[in-house]
Amino acid sequence: MTHTSRLSQDKILELFKQDGLLSQQIKGFEARLVQQKMTANVIQAYNENKIALIEAGTGTGKSMAYLIPALIAAACNKERTVISTNTITLQEQLVSKDIPVLVKALSLNVKAALVKGMNNYACIRKIEEAQSELRLLPDQEAQELEKIVAWKASTKDGSRSKLSFVPSHATWERVGAESDTCTRNDCPYYQECFFFQARRQANDAQILVVNHHLLFADLSLRAETNNYDTPAILPFYQNVILDEAHHIEDVATEYFATRVTRMEMTRTLNRLSSEKQNKVTGKLPLLKDKIHTVFKNAPPTQLSKVLSSLNMDLPAMRRKIQDYIQEAFLSLTLFAEAAASSPNEESNQGDVKLRLLEHHQRHTDWPGEVIPRTQQLADELLRYSQSLSGIEASLKGVDHDSFQEQTKGIRFEIQALAMRLDSMARFLKEFISVPTTKQQVRWLETQKLRFFTNIHLVEAKLDISQALVDFLFSKFPTVVLCSATLTTNKSFDFIRERLGLTPKLLPHKGITENIYESPFNYPQQAMLVVPTDLPNPSQEGYTEAAIEKIWECIQASRGNAFVLFTSYTMLKQCYDRLVVRLTENRYHAFKQGDEHRNILLHKFKTTNYSVLFGTDSFWEGVDVVGEALRCVIIVKLPFKVPTEPIIQARTEALIAQGKDPFLDYSIPTAIVKFKQGFGRLIRNKKDRGCIVCLDTRLITKNYGKMFLNSLPACRQLFAEGPAVKDQMAEFYRMTYHLVAK
Ligand code: SF4
Repeated sequence: MTHTSRLSQDKILELFKQDGLLSQQIKGFEARLVQQKMTANVIQAYNENKIALIEAGTGTGKSMAYLIPALIAAACNKERTVISTNTITLQEQLVSKDIPVLVKALSLNVKAALVKGMNNYACIRKIEEAQSELRLLPDQEAQELEKIVAWKASTKDGSRSKLSFVPSHATWERVGAESDTCTRNDCPYYQECFFFQARRQANDAQILVVNHHLLFADLSLRAETNNYDTPAILPFYQNVILDEAHHIEDVATEYFATRVTRMEMTRTLNRLSSEKQNKVTGKLPLLKDKIHTVFKNAPPTQLSKVLSSLNMDLPAMRRKIQDYIQEAFLSLTLFAEAAASSPNEESNQGDVKLRLLEHHQRHTDWPGEVIPRTQQLADELLRYSQSLSGIEASLKGVDHDSFQEQTKGIRFEIQALAMRLDSMARFLKEFISVPTTKQQVRWLETQKLRFFTNIHLVEAKLDISQALVDFLFSKFPTVVLCSATLTTNKSFDFIRERLGLTPKLLPHKGITENIYESPFNYPQQAMLVVPTDLPNPSQEGYTEAAIEKIWECIQASRGNAFVLFTSYTMLKQCYDRLVVRLTENRYHAFKQGDEHRNILLHKFKTTNYSVLFGTDSFWEGVDVVGEALRCVIIVKLPFKVPTEPIIQARTEALIAQGKDPFLDYSIPTAIVKFKQGFGRLIRNKKDRGCIVCLDTRLITKNYGKMFLNSLPACRQLFAEGPAVKDQMAEFYRMTYHLVAK
């Protein structure tokens, strides 16, 4: 795959000039040198079939810098580009704001589409079928389904996000489109199908905006079929731009992992048949009903065996499986809880993650309890799925057009669900008996829910660099990877190594690297504060001291602060100790987990003197502009939890390669996250504030220099005692003019 013709760098950069077309057409457009340089890098990647690694600080205007070459390649060369991001917020911003503005300003005849995964759309066939089950459903599901039926008649695109309420998982499973239960061309609703209509629109578009997960689904199907020039999940494309590219390794690891959970297995089983509130629902009872309806309660003798199976054998097997699920997953949960040394730090419920190692499997409970119970479950699941295939084989031979037509969709779905159970059973067998290779890691993960403990059985690849090279980097002429946080200590070494962008794996591919600092005036707008009189986070008394320091900083900034944690346990401790003091002093305290993230964020933005206590999801992808956020407190340096199974296994793999896992893995990943947290504060040129780091390792340890060197240059205050609060208050006084303008 190569490009048809070159993009003209001179002509494109003309557009960005002070008096260029963009200034004339877009209100508020400002010529920025860093944006022009980044655009030139993207053009070079298009023209010379290169991979471009670009770190562009906040305010560079990176979306425009990659969109303009992509739009011009689409208009002039008829080349399609996929733009993949990690968050829906950025996808929506690109499709509904940035791209339309540029298409209009440049008078281009280019279409863009936001392509979402299939399960985001309602399936018309499933909605129709679910209506026949309406009277059998539990009340809440029946009410939700009724609302969805009414909505189906008026919705234009059938997208779940357009529903006026959030349907329960069980309801959406009943009506959401899925690749394995979709009958495609055989479906009577194929022409009007919401998902396929969206795909037809995508076929007409030259810019496809997707999330990383959907991109990997497409790439993996292409790799399976060696198809790089016709549609797969996405229409055919030549170029890939990955924004928020610092997430690629994590998303790819999750995508290529296999995960079986107790909840998922139970749900799949329930979709086939389940009893709730004395009502039997599911595809199997529905099939039985259809047989009786079509044959007017006098089914041919040919169907006697099938009916007996539906009436007797399958329900008996299902009951057995339910018991076996209970026993097998309980034995796995107890095993994990007994063997794990400590609870998972990210959890607030005492959940555990246990990396499965050889010595665990030598424990008497493994062969004594876990293996026999899991084996028993897997065998019964296989028997169940084979019986379901047997039913399909019998029904296929029934020579009755109306019966075939009316049961086609239901039977297809039953087969798809049987296949899912079959794959789960095979995975269970492998999980308990086949040893892992050096490239794999397996773990058990418990998750306490209201009525039971769910457990995940996971197998993941340790290193996804080869997969990324095989599926992506070696297959497309142009790949641009950009983010505000790709480098550590001003170098791309870490990301290059993790993603496989090395001469060893890509000997013939040109790779360019560029770093663009944020154009904001950090020395004027921001101050990094490290209180030097705090104990080290691992020392006794740290939490107490940190709580007092958080309080002082909140007083200095008069709230409007994020307090970012690396563990929910510590977040809760600090929140519980501060909430009364905050409320008594008229501050508004919000805690992650109390409400949906977006609702919390909205309340934080619209309430003055507010303080938000957050973990993971508030470290990035959160844009609070202006005085609503004037202080970010980072409680600890965000090192990944070393006992996390995948981290532990990667650490060992690095040691085996003769590398230093702390230096080569822990520090760089922590720096990327630290930069993200730091980056929450200054979102435009009128923002100002303090970033306080309560982890003194930032200035006492040698590696602290690497963290500091990775940040934009700004004022620094390393002080102790009341000086911290006083000087922060002074900073806010001195910079007030920035916001008062
Ligand atoms: S084509 Fe597939 S997704 Fe669309 S309505 Fe039919 S079965 Fe559902």
